Amino acid sequence: MSITILEHPLAADLLTVLRDKRTDPPQFRQIAERLGYLLVAEALADMSTDEIEIETPLEKTVGIQLRRPVVAVAVLRAGLGLLHSVLTLVPDATIGFAGVQRNEETAEPMEYYTKFPTLDSARVLILEPMLATGGSLSWAIDKAKESGARDIVAVCVVAAPEGVKVIEEAHPEVRIVAATLDRELNPNFYIAPGLGDMGDRLFGTL
Ligand code: URA
Repeated sequence: MSITILEHPLAADLLTVLRDKRTDPPQFRQIAERLGYLLVAEALADMSTDEIEIETPLEKTVGIQLRRPVVAVAVLRAGLGLLHSVLTLVPDATIGFAGVQRNEETAEPMEYYTKFPTLDSARVLILEPMLATGGSLSWAIDKAKESGARDIVAVCVVAAPEGVKVIEEAHPEVRIVAATLDRELNPNFYIAPGLGDMGDRLFGTL
């Protein structure tokens, strides 16, 4: 497994706004989307490409296009906060949903809805902004693999060392792209320093 942390001042600046408890949901959604562009670009940076011949208004030249399709799987509900970033950068991407709820006492994942497009030949981006215990992400990766996914990158905003270890052990071939690797999980399984509950901060719930 490998984890890639975005080393970019713009990413650090955007993350700081997300961490700030004064950031309200409209601004939070906008900043998450902007940070998502950087995360998704990094998650696709090693995609294979093909050369194609095109004509500019001046002459023929050789261009580049992605060889394989892109699928984004949003882990509900926080993953929705990064979905628009994928669709803006890759409008042809198809979208899946992994509905999993965290049992607040045990932090174990509980499935309530799953729907995937064809995954087998695609780069599958699993959008899981808060990699905390790793339970939901590991579950979503299992589901994607059962449906044929063979090339998976996890796209996270904040990762905790505990969650990274879980993914490393269960899915060593899956690359994680994150904006930060934070210190630890607190006793309530929230990431510290973190940014709080991503779903609540995106959608204004309590
Ligand atoms: N999910 C969140 O939204 N935040 C955390 O800190 C952990 C899990």
